[in-house]
Amino acid sequence: MLVNLKTILEGTRKDARAVGSFNIYSYETIHGVAAAVKKSGKDAIISFGASYLVNMSLKTVVAIVKEVADELEQNVALHLDHCTDINIIKNAIDAGFTSVMYDGSSLPFEENVKNTKLVCDMAHEKNVSVEAELGSLALGEYSNETDIDHGQAYTDPSNAKEFVERTGVDALAVSIGTVHGMYKAKPNIRVDILKAIAKEVSIPLVLHGGSGTPQELLLECIDNGICKINVNTEISQYTVKKIAEKIAEEPNTHLSKLTLLTSDYVSEIVYKYIDLFNNCK
Ligand SMILES: [Zn+2]
Repeated sequence: MLVNLKTILEGTRKDARAVGSFNIYSYETIHGVAAAVKKSGKDAIISFGASYLVNMSLKTVVAIVKEVADELEQNVALHLDHCTDINIIKNAIDAGFTSVMYDGSSLPFEENVKNTKLVCDMAHEKNVSVEAELGSLALGEYSNETDIDHGQAYTDPSNAKEFVERTGVDALAVSIGTVHGMYKAKPNIRVDILKAIAKEVSIPLVLHGGSGTPQELLLECIDNGICKINVNTEISQYTVKKIAEKIAEEPNTHLSKLTLLTSDYVSEIVYKYIDLFNNCK
């Protein structure tokens, strides 16, 4: 069933578990995530980045996800990832997305508050949830979400409570040392900052940059208030590697078979993360 982000994250902080958020950009990737949801029996968030509008239109994404979600017993939310353009956010809401992320993390605090509040007012009217971001993530290797490296700016815990209260946001993405893409060096995840934020704010917290983060660190983050974890780069890397192996093995594989296999490979890696995020305690 297709639900909004607020519904899918309900109870996650109390239960110390997280819902995985997986980036999709094609029919095959959507079906891969859906297959992993079905196999695991657990919910997941299907996430479409505004940067993938070159791959699929908002309306096409909604049509495929709705069809897939209707056949699932589990809940899925359809989320617009990292969007700085309020017009695109409006179009996503109108098209049928159940959740949107307004990313004002590179803006000064007051401007981020003002724009996030505007998006919340617009989205909540249509029962659509909103995620926003405070602080910004550095850019790792092979990131496909953004080319801009804002540098690592850790979330200031003293700002978090005011931000949430003034905007009415449903989930807050925090910056505690993960990166977009794969790590260039050993990650320095500041669980102390996460704990301080969690003390100030009771809404679900979101971790971007799940790819390549050591499992024990992800579990520690879940224990300390992270309820949604985004995984993108690792899904792509795993799937491309498997496709390359398949083609090396059988160069004459028909494209129709390869698209089905693509869904299977996506499903394998997504399942691994859903399982990890749900069986953490
Ligand atoms: Zn992100």
